[in-house]
Amino acid sequence: MKEQTLAIHAGYEKDAQGTMVVPIYQTTAYEFRDTTHAANLFKLKELGNIYTRLMNPTTDVFEKRFTSLEKGVAGVGTASGMSAIFYAIANVAESGDNIIVAKQVYGGTSTLTTHTIKRFGIESRYFDVNNPLEIEELIDNRTKLILFESITNPSIDVADFNAITEIANSHNILTCVDNTVATPIYCKPLTLGCDLVVHSASKYTTGQGLAIGGIIVERENLVDKIKNNPRYYHFNEPDESYHGLIYSDLSLPLFTLRVRLALLRDLGATPSPFNSWLYIQGLETLPLRMKQHSSSALAIAKFLEAHPKVKKVNYPGLKSNKNYKLAQKYFPKGQSGLLSFEVSSLEEAQKIADSTEIFSLVVNIGDSKSIITHPASTTHQQLSAKELIEAGVPAGLIRLSIGLEDTDDLIEDLKKALG
Ligand SMILES: *Cc1c(COP(=O)(O)O)cnc(C)c1O
Repeated sequence: MKEQTLAIHAGYEKDAQGTMVVPIYQTTAYEFRDTTHAANLFKLKELGNIYTRLMNPTTDVFEKRFTSLEKGVAGVGTASGMSAIFYAIANVAESGDNIIVAKQVYGGTSTLTTHTIKRFGIESRYFDVNNPLEIEELIDNRTKLILFESITNPSIDVADFNAITEIANSHNILTCVDNTVATPIYCKPLTLGCDLVVHSASKYTTGQGLAIGGIIVERENLVDKIKNNPRYYHFNEPDESYHGLIYSDLSLPLFTLRVRLALLRDLGATPSPFNSWLYIQGLETLPLRMKQHSSSALAIAKFLEAHPKVKKVNYPGLKSNKNYKLAQKYFPKGQSGLLSFEVSSLEEAQKIADSTEIFSLVVNIGDSKSIITHPASTTHQQLSAKELIEAGVPAGLIRLSIGLEDTDDLIEDLKKALG
């Protein structure tokens, strides 16, 4: 089936009631038929519902539908994008291990990898996503994961998948792509040789800024990379916490299964059934919405590029962009709705951000409502002028998340604000 059909139907089989809309299974627990049934579920002899911290029928539809869009084999929903990223790391790395992370990542990912997991004894080593050859020097035998974003937020760089996976595969290291900005509509990292995808479902998935959520999706046959690989010995040795289960011996997608059985069990960042239902509603229109986000963003990027007050526009769909060729190679059909542009000073940027009428001043992306963000006054406020430049966030930089309003109205709004 084609993508637009999967977005509307994948993962849902109607029950006897025949409800057209996926029901919200608002429940904490599920009744077992008898003790044998219960024991079989706990032993994984049979798969089925036990407790909503681990699984839920509404969340299951969300997971299956998202997985089908990513062309993966299994997915596990989480309570936020950040918990999806943390679980992807915690599922492979422990104290004494390290992970390799792109310097250009979402602010929360940056603080998680720099500070929070360091307190758990996991070191993060950073590479410039524009120079993936740097990865090679960072790898040692305790390297467990390479984490990067397909289109980076907020710097709007583009990852060179082939260059990254070539290095990762030559060392048998797992790659994990945060595909939040590109969305599966424009980029399917699992078909480009990557092993895992993580998302914030809070953004384009709900599409209207409705709820916080996340997901991890794994590719088919991931076991081939993990089985007997000493880096991932904990998948190949009996899991004490699950009465000696050896994950790589199961004929089930092992990465997301372990997230569910170990991390959701013990840490519990599970999506609520109601939020899963909202993500499902969002997915139905994701392919249609992304076309509009993307074509509007390109038109606005072109308008800004021609404006005398604008020094530079970052949008990989523009021919002048340093990543145009990579974007054409990996996401030729569209480059999503996120762009940034630079004006001459902090004051000038603040004046623009303060005077738009349709664009709201918000720190979020992927909403039907257009959003303007001034990183130097918000997400990157603590940085000095020099640090701002090093982080690729000049004081005069403005980020836009292009919504679904009429493109001409959005251009008119920016024209007035630029003065
Ligand atoms: C928002 C975002 C996150 C974090 O997701 P939450 O759902 O807010 O926890 C992670 N990565 C990217 C690229 C994001 O834009």
